[in-house]
Amino acid sequence: MAKLLNNGYVNLVESMGHDQAAIRNARRCWRSESKGEDADTKLIQHLLRAGHKTPFEAMVFTFDVKTPLFVARQWFRHRMGSYNEESLRYCVALKDYYIPEGLEGQALTLWKAHNDQAFAVYEQLVSQHGLQKEQARSVLPVGLYTKFYWTVNGSALMNFLALRLDSHAQQEIRCYAQAILDIVILQAPISFTAFKEVMAFADRS
Ligand SMILES: Cc1cc2nc3c(=O)[nH]c(=O)nc-3n(C[C@H](O)[C@H](O)[C@H](O)COP(=O)(O)OP(=O)(O)OC[C@H]3O[C@@H](n4cnc5c(N)ncnc54)[C@H](O)[C@@H]3O)c2cc1C
Repeated sequence: MAKLLNNGYVNLVESMGHDQAAIRNARRCWRSESKGEDADTKLIQHLLRAGHKTPFEAMVFTFDVKTPLFVARQWFRHRMGSYNEESLRYCVALKDYYIPEGLEGQALTLWKAHNDQAFAVYEQLVSQHGLQKEQARSVLPVGLYTKFYWTVNGSALMNFLALRLDSHAQQEIRCYAQAILDIVILQAPISFTAFKEVMAFADRS
């Protein structure tokens, strides 16, 4: 499990397919099968440079993610994937919120006071005033941590990584993208090493 931010994480729950699935599917185009690591690596590099990405859909990953709501909101814009998130209609919100690294002094005191106050109001509204959780949650901050499962195929994951590793992406989501790349490179080393090389070539920064 990769621990991220002050209280988040990303963890690979399960996966299938990996390099061999992408190679198998791609080689169907040429009526062939795996030709050994060197030839397969060249094939993968060719697929990525040519944008022939459907073979990477044969590998699939499910991640367990804990991240602030504002990061999840950016994440969920990636439509090519499946999500199941903890519901604040059904579950009581936990006092667990994002604190940026390096925040100190008065700014930290103000940050904590505001978040603590929001949670205190939420708890009061639910327990003393009988508000439904689904309504009371609207007083909570967007730095509240949420948890979701994300199932994504290799091609959609590469799209996510290309966009969210980029220097234009917000740092808080970039660190998740980097942790995910570090995880999947161990699962499908040929594909994601080639992806890293192609990405470096296309870097806009
Ligand atoms: C740095 C950055 C800043 C951003 N800022 C904003 C912002 O200010 N406001 C905002 O609203 N969004 C913003 N976004 C979100 C962005 O517009 C995309 O929604 C998000 O990055 C998901 O990318 P995607 O559509 O490629 O991914 P996915 O939704 O996973 O789609 C993958 C691919 O499938 C195809 N696809 C999916 N759905 C369709 C469709 N309906 N029609 C055609 N092709 C489709 C496309 O080829 C797409 O690239 C930002 C993203 C980044 C990285």
